[in-house]
Amino acid sequence: MSDLSRSTHTGRPRVVVVGAGFAGLAAVKALKAAPVEVVLLDQHNHHVFNPFLYQVATALLEPVEAANPVRALVRGLRNLTFRVATVSDVHLRSQQVGTDRGVVAYDYLILAAGSVSDYFHSADIAARSFGIKDLGEALELRNQVLSRFEQASWAADPVERSRLLSFAVVGGGPTGVEFAAALAVLVEGSLAKDFPSITREEVSIVLVEGSEAPLASFAKGLQRSAARALANKGVRVESKAMVADVDVEGLLLKDGRRIEAATVVWAAGVTANPLVESLGVELGSKRRVPVTATLQLAGHPEVFVVGDLAEIPGRSKQPLPMLAQVGLQSGGHAGRAIEAMLAGRRVARFRYHNLGTMAVVGRNDGIAQIGPLHLSGFVGWLAWLFLHIARIHGLSGRFLVLVSWISGFVFADRPVRLVVGPRKAIPHASQTAGRPGGADAIELPSPSVATVDEWGPAAALAWWTQDLPGRERT
Ligand SMILES: Cc1cc2nc3c(=O)[nH]c(=O)nc-3n(C[C@H](O)[C@H](O)[C@H](O)COP(=O)(O)OP(=O)(O)OC[C@H]3O[C@@H](n4cnc5c(N)ncnc54)[C@H](O)[C@@H]3O)c2cc1C
Repeated sequence: MSDLSRSTHTGRPRVVVVGAGFAGLAAVKALKAAPVEVVLLDQHNHHVFNPFLYQVATALLEPVEAANPVRALVRGLRNLTFRVATVSDVHLRSQQVGTDRGVVAYDYLILAAGSVSDYFHSADIAARSFGIKDLGEALELRNQVLSRFEQASWAADPVERSRLLSFAVVGGGPTGVEFAAALAVLVEGSLAKDFPSITREEVSIVLVEGSEAPLASFAKGLQRSAARALANKGVRVESKAMVADVDVEGLLLKDGRRIEAATVVWAAGVTANPLVESLGVELGSKRRVPVTATLQLAGHPEVFVVGDLAEIPGRSKQPLPMLAQVGLQSGGHAGRAIEAMLAGRRVARFRYHNLGTMAVVGRNDGIAQIGPLHLSGFVGWLAWLFLHIARIHGLSGRFLVLVSWISGFVFADRPVRLVVGPRKAIPHASQTAGRPGGADAIELPSPSVATVDEWGPAAALAWWTQDLPGRERT
């Protein structure tokens, strides 16, 4: 039984926050002076700055520049306990959450467990494509890209070389566009120098989008500017292309067409974390939890749902988009709302302030839509840079990223193109159980993660990031 399974003995109510992402961290910071005991739970020991994941996947940033240990970020919060735990369900009646470390009791609950990639219920698509949803996936993708170039350098047959160097990116939202553009920059820059025997013509990058054009949420002029930037970088865009299946040779489209690709990257959207299923409430769009105007769960004023997990009514009656700003603002609101409830004050409605949407389309090129202001090219990229630097949690993180970008801007060739993997077999927890300091000493991801031969670098990275990929790929 965990020491958190019963109510607090401190006389202060306990607020349990599930998820140390944008929303969860904003919530615990808002509660820092509140007369409560805060318990923050996350499945990982680190907070990930998702907007930078595509840069990790394209060897522009190191993982440490896109993630921070949670314990370092919450160091100054005296009323907070952080624990690594995977939350599996929520028991609304008994006011407990179930975790892999036992149950944790709460007086107030803030659910901020974010979202997962949406593979449209296809196990094949999930197994055969690469996601960019967390640090483990981004590193796995970086290894895949670099390994394909290493394999192609051995291939004498030009057809086989082109096959190995074919990449399809599914999803023309900001994540897909940013990844495709950054991959083109990597290919033209560092990889052209690293692999002088491979020509740009042998590499194909296709961006596959179901609607009329990529970046549909941006104004038409900005869409055109991004399309030009992609074309200049040699990224082919296939619009109105709905994916039916992914196989070992590439994509099958719903209209019967095929797109050959040895590497398929899946950036076709997200859906709320499956944790929401245990709430037993009717779910909304993208399986998000509908919340009241104060971000509470109807009938359970002690429960707040925030960030990507929540379907928050917007001004136009459309739910708010799944964005970092929504996470930050809604998480902060939930923290302040609990403080208000404890002080006997009325809980205010949540008001979202749209700070604009942005996307990067390659090196020093971006688009930004900030109210009526539409920026593109270098100015759009600068707007993106400053907004994102300001959002990174922790001063050291901001400094690290700024230094990396400046060095990337000046030298355009950062030496982060490592394919890393373990040298010896990783024992499963059950093999170490019973030994002193055995199973509890280190949490290993899965019995199936056995040797480098079986799983290669992906397993090493999964182990390192404590995030099991569980995929079968070629
Ligand atoms: C590749 C990528 C790029 C993006 N780029 C942008 C961008 O440029 N601009 C923008 O505004 N938005 C962007 N987004 C969206 C943005 O990152 C999300 O909207 C935001 O992270 C949501 O915040 P959140 O706190 O709800 O979830 P997250 O930040 O995802 O945090 C959820 C946390 O919950 C933890 N967790 C999950 N399940 C469990 C569990 N069962 N038990 C315990 N802990 C759990 C996770 O480990 C994570 O730490 C991007 C997203 C991705 C994936």
